[in-house]
Amino acid sequence: MSATIIDGKVFAAKVRGLVSESVAKLKAEHGIKPGLAVVLVGEDPASQVYVRSKGKMTVEVGMNSVEHKLNADTSEVDLLKLIDELNNDSSIHGILVQLPLPSHLNEDLVINSINPAKDVDGFHISNVGLLGTGQKSMVPCTPLGCLMMLRDYHGSLSGLNAVVVGRSNIVGKPMAQLLLGDSCTVTIAHSRTKDIQSVTRRADIVIAAVGRPEMVTGEWIKPGATVIDVGINRIDAPEKGEGKTRLVGDCDYVSCANVAGAITPVPGGVGPMTIACLLANTVTACCRAHRLTEPNGLTA
Ligand code: NDP
Repeated sequence: MSATIIDGKVFAAKVRGLVSESVAKLKAEHGIKPGLAVVLVGEDPASQVYVRSKGKMTVEVGMNSVEHKLNADTSEVDLLKLIDELNNDSSIHGILVQLPLPSHLNEDLVINSINPAKDVDGFHISNVGLLGTGQKSMVPCTPLGCLMMLRDYHGSLSGLNAVVVGRSNIVGKPMAQLLLGDSCTVTIAHSRTKDIQSVTRRADIVIAAVGRPEMVTGEWIKPGATVIDVGINRIDAPEKGEGKTRLVGDCDYVSCANVAGAITPVPGGVGPMTIACLLANTVTACCRAHRLTEPNGLTA
């Protein structure tokens, strides 16, 4: 295996360190404590784990963490009322509604009811438009984390060929916008792309965000390219014992690492960066709300 491992755990700790410093400065110089509100509707086990982990890390960096856990049968009216209250609460600088929502709730409506300035997930239609037009916005956390790692590894991304595999609103599309913003030549591949391997083999950077375990193999990768594996897939692991599972990415790690110049592992790559960027977005939102200078290195 020849590829450099881009260690998301180490990088995320660095980002959280920068966030902690900014939070301490906001308190010391302005008496402001950034606050993040997370809204969870229902009892999806994976969402509960994410929300717990987000709350713990929010407190660890010195911010205020507020959790609203609502029953699965909460009405849209009640959820929108809560979001309205949070929009009007000056102690709350970031609002995150954990997705997916139960099927009776309209996700687009709910997300678009968040004040865009507090939309730390960057999913509000205003933030999507601002990002698409190269204006200051709240940037979705997972692509922001990928961008930070790429900038750190490459320095300038200008002129590099980047292929994003996946065109979701939360990862693929904003990732492509961010890479375009850094002057990459960007291609978005998806399930209808013809001869996808010949497309990815031309790329200096491949971002895999498809949700298919180990789909991208070394044959897809140009020698020396950088591979960012966004995928998180739980698969059976009979080698660990009956009923055991393990996490894998959308890339076949071993074969990709044999060809790539650099690669993010799963777990320990993009995943830790996502929560770190959520905290970064909350500090950024807080600084913007108070018209204070934003910390360097925490946004796109
Ligand atoms: P979606 O299911 O919303 O999108 C998947 C995309 O992959 C679609 O655009 C789809 O194309 C494309 N796709 C599916 N199959 C193929 C194929 N055979 N060839 C090419 N493209 C294909 O997924 P998300 O974007 O939400 O998530 C992607 C992955 O990233 C998942 O594993 C998810 O768990 C992970 N993830 C990780 C995060 C982290 O913090 N690390 C955060 C968010 C997601 P089409 O549009 O044509 O159907």
